[in-house]
Amino acid sequence: MVVFLTRMPPEVIGAQNPIPYSHTADLLYAALDQVGLKLCAELGKHGIQVVPVVTDVPYLHWDVENKHAMGIISRRHAACNAGLGMLGRNTLLINPDHGNMVYIGAVLPGNEVEPDPVACDFTCPPNCSLCLEACPVHALNGITVNQKLCREFSFIVHPRGWDVYTCNACRKLCPHRNGYNQ
Ligand code: SF4
Ligand code: SF4
Repeated sequence: MVVFLTRMPPEVIGAQNPIPYSHTADLLYAALDQVGLKLCAELGKHGIQVVPVVTDVPYLHWDVENKHAMGIISRRHAACNAGLGMLGRNTLLINPDHGNMVYIGAVLPGNEVEPDPVACDFTCPPNCSLCLEACPVHALNGITVNQKLCREFSFIVHPRGWDVYTCNACRKLCPHRNGYNQ
């Protein structure tokens, strides 16, 4: 697997309303999908066949009752295995240089590729539970996220059809939001 990241401008998360964050996230998902397509084309010229992994939607599986989504692969776990960071207790990838303000894209090669070393030099501080405490609906338990609780609180569809992310407290309040190498 080939995994790549892009960073949301850190100022966006401080906006007074959810629109800049929501719109930027949509743009980043689309940009990552474009990178995946370009990789398919470029690697294909060298005889390396890859398939793009959808960055956001459509999901491969969608559990209506539990609002639980599954994509083709877990891009967060793939990013860990690709050496791009570690998962925090908020379940987000924390990249050493860019923190959790990263969005992840991937392509699946048909052949084995040599992996980069796993970045295993970070774990959440033992006493930190800021993200768990910040979640208004207690959707985090330090290991996973209850997607139903999270989605029902953090995501709305505007009456005109736009997706709006209305909560990002677990991302915003993490002391390693912008990385842990600084
Ligand atoms: S986005 Fe909001 S609701 Fe969802 S887990 Fe984070 S803090 Fe909780
Ligand atoms: S807030 Fe603390 S526990 Fe949560 S992800 Fe960040 S460092 Fe880890």
